[in-house]
Amino acid sequence: MKSLFILFTSFFIMLGHSVSAQDADSVRYVGTLEGAYLNSGNGTDRLGGNKMGFIEEGIVLQVLGEEESLYKVRLSENRYAYIPKEYAADTAVTDFAPVITSGSISVSNAGKYDVISIALEQKRCYLAKEESESGKMIIDLYGVQNNSNWITQYLDLESVESIDAIQVDSDILRLTIGLKNRTSWGYSVKYEEGRLVIKIKHNPQFTLKGMVIGVDAGHGGPDSPGARGRETRVNEKDLNLDMALRLKRLLEAKGAKVVLSRDKDTSLTMAERKAVFLANDIDMMISIHCNAGGTASGTSTYYKHIQNKKFAKTLLESILEIDGINLFGLVGNFNFSLNAPTEYPNALVETLFLSDPQDEARLNDPDFRELIMKKVAKGVKNYVKYCKKIEKRSAAHEF
Ligand SMILES: [Zn+2]
Repeated sequence: MKSLFILFTSFFIMLGHSVSAQDADSVRYVGTLEGAYLNSGNGTDRLGGNKMGFIEEGIVLQVLGEEESLYKVRLSENRYAYIPKEYAADTAVTDFAPVITSGSISVSNAGKYDVISIALEQKRCYLAKEESESGKMIIDLYGVQNNSNWITQYLDLESVESIDAIQVDSDILRLTIGLKNRTSWGYSVKYEEGRLVIKIKHNPQFTLKGMVIGVDAGHGGPDSPGARGRETRVNEKDLNLDMALRLKRLLEAKGAKVVLSRDKDTSLTMAERKAVFLANDIDMMISIHCNAGGTASGTSTYYKHIQNKKFAKTLLESILEIDGINLFGLVGNFNFSLNAPTEYPNALVETLFLSDPQDEARLNDPDFRELIMKKVAKGVKNYVKYCKKIEKRSAAHEF
């Protein structure tokens, strides 16, 4: 009886195989579009599902299925993810190899960055994660087998200590990058001419003098006023701009150079804001907003990537020195677009709640706006000091 069952089962499995073989021609592929990101699941909330990471445009992914606004896509033989349909376009692919092999790796110092480059004959999906406190950065390459038998490392590296390439699944190659520094000043991962190029920023001089700081005034223009004051109907966008201009003046007084995303009441998309900051090669970024909702009150700061937690926390601690304001919270893994860039440390400051009468009265007071921006500027300075201390301590442990 048992052997008959096995016979039947294997017959159906064989049947299943021959059907999928016939379907091979109709395998569907999508190419990623600018701003694309992968979600680990199909869950969602107000700002979208849990993001695994952003990926650049032009990466081909095999479609496994569709769920409303998402494609389920294959990362490797055993892994899949979800991508919003708006960031993926159908693409006709004839030469998609399920698995490719990696080529030579080189690591060099390019001035402001150390640059790691790995030869890959096709663009493959990757996910990167920095764990600066433990001194590591991990990049998983999907659909790639390790054939990197040359890892050329120059001796003048400033941010990269070591690099290792290990096959963690039959078709996932993991690059583990040992970092010299314990504080994070940003990185980028991007394909350039047949190579995946990873740039890891060097530590800056640990002083605000000469540092380039991006300040974003949230919302703006006729279509994005942001929240409204419950009592006075004041527009959030106007308060944000006023505070951003104050923060600019205060940071410049400490010697920093400040790049604003907007300096008047103009409309800007999130991509345009990010483009301004990248074009100016900023060292860090703060986005200024006012909160609203329910009966909540108080101040809060937000980050997406774990390496920015300390920055967001330091800003929050400084703001909380102001008498009488409530703590709303320190929020991590947050899906705000301007928290997504990895190229520079960044944090979102939700000053106070416009929907709370006491908070609204404070936000409407120019003296309070000056005071809270003084605390933000002090928080930036404290963070730079903290980084200096950490790097000094870790250097002392090297021999
Ligand atoms: Zn806002």
